[in-house]
Amino acid sequence: MEKTLILNSGACSWGRCIFCGWGKHRFKVDAKALMKIFDENVDEKVACLKIFGSGSFFDKKQFPMDFLKHVAKVMRGRKLVVESRPEYVTPEKLELFKGVKLVVAMGLEAADDEVLKKLRKGVTLEKFKKACELIHKYGFKVKGYILVNPPFDYKGLLDKSVKFGLKYCDELVLINTYPHAKAELFDYWISGKWGPMNEEEFNKVTKKYRGNKKIKLDYSNYAFEPRFEKKKRIVGVGKKYLLHPYFNVWQDYFVRFYKRPKDKNVVLFLPCSKRKPYYKSRTHKAIRRMIAGFPFYKNMHIVVISNPGVIPIEYSDKYPFNAYDWDERKETKKIKEEYLKVTEERVKNYLKAQKYKRYLSYFRPESESGIALKNACKKLRIRLHDLCDKEVYEKVKDKRNPLIQREMLNALKEKIKKALSG
Ligand code: SF4
Repeated sequence: MEKTLILNSGACSWGRCIFCGWGKHRFKVDAKALMKIFDENVDEKVACLKIFGSGSFFDKKQFPMDFLKHVAKVMRGRKLVVESRPEYVTPEKLELFKGVKLVVAMGLEAADDEVLKKLRKGVTLEKFKKACELIHKYGFKVKGYILVNPPFDYKGLLDKSVKFGLKYCDELVLINTYPHAKAELFDYWISGKWGPMNEEEFNKVTKKYRGNKKIKLDYSNYAFEPRFEKKKRIVGVGKKYLLHPYFNVWQDYFVRFYKRPKDKNVVLFLPCSKRKPYYKSRTHKAIRRMIAGFPFYKNMHIVVISNPGVIPIEYSDKYPFNAYDWDERKETKKIKEEYLKVTEERVKNYLKAQKYKRYLSYFRPESESGIALKNACKKLRIRLHDLCDKEVYEKVKDKRNPLIQREMLNALKEKIKKALSG
C-alpha cells in the first residue's frame, strides 16, 4: 500500500523562491507530535510512504533528528520518498537511512543558473548535481522537479532542463507553474508580466515527454484559483476600475481555467447588484424566488455581468466580487462606450470557452451589460433569449427596481418556459 503524509512542521529555511507560496507557511516544530502523527498513519501495510512538508525533510530546523531517526528505523526495507533542498543532503542524514529504499525529491526547476537566480532558488546546477551524486553514492534514488512555463522561460529551456534532469535524476516530474497566493509570482500575473498555462497549453508543451517512463506530467498539483492577499475594496467609476488588474486576472481564469458546473447547461445572465454578494440582493432574491420551484432551475447557471466582467454566481463571495462598487450615476458617455466595448469582449471570450444548451438574459433594455451581451451573442451567432418583456417594462420602468415588479416577474417566468420548450 502506498501512502502520502503531509507533515506541517516548521518552515522552509529558504522560503524565497518567487514561485512558491508553500515555503512561506510557518508551523510549530514538535518532534513528539510528528512521531505521533507518523505512528498513527504508518503501519506494516504501508510499503511506500511519501512525506511532503513544504521545505526540506533533511533540514533539522524543520524536522528534528530524533524524528528522522524514528522514520528511518520504521521504514527500513520499505520505500520512502522525501523532499529536500540540495544543501541539506549530507552524508550524516543519508547514513541514517541505510536499509531504506529512499528517494530524495529535489526541485531542479530549470537547468539554467541565470534563470535559477532570477527565480531566487538559491541553488546552482552544480549544487544540484553534487547532491544527486551523493544520493546515488549511497544507493538511493533522486526525483527531480522541473517547472513547465516558469517566469523567465525561453525557447529550449524545458528541453535543456529535461536533458539535465535525466542525466542526474532517476525520475522527473514536470510540474505546471501556478501562481500561489503568497508567492511573488502572483504579482507577475496581476501585472501581466507572466501567465499560468491551462491544461491544453500544458499538454501541448509537454506532449513530447508523454510516454517516457522516467517522466511524470503534473498539470494540477495545486488547487489553483486567484487568491488575493490584499483585500481592499475597489470603489470607483472609470477605465481604472473597469480594467482593474484583479478583474482581468479573474476574467483570464474564467476563460482559460474555469469549467462551468456540468449539470448547469442553461445559462441565465443577470445584472449585478449594489448589495454584495449578488445573491443576497433584493433583485436576485426576487428572481430566484420566481423561478426556483421549476424543474428547469436545477440546470440553470446564473452568471452576472458587471464592471469586473463575467462572474459565475458561485464566485459572488470571492474577493473582489464581494468588495467593489461602481456607481452608474457617475458614468460619462465615454466610459459607457468603453464599458460596452470591454464587456462585449469579455462576454465573447467567456462564451467561446463555456458552452451551454440555452442562453437566457434578463436585463433592463437600456442596460449596457445587456447590450454588450446581445452584441457578443450576435457576433458568435448564439441565440439569446431576452426574458425582459418590453411592453410590460414600459409600464413599470419608472417604478423603483422595475425588473422585480410583479408583472415583470410573471412575464419572466412565462418567457423562460417558452424559451426552454423550443
Ligand atoms: S520551492 Fe522549496 S525551497 Fe523554494 S521556498 Fe518553496 S519550499 Fe522552500
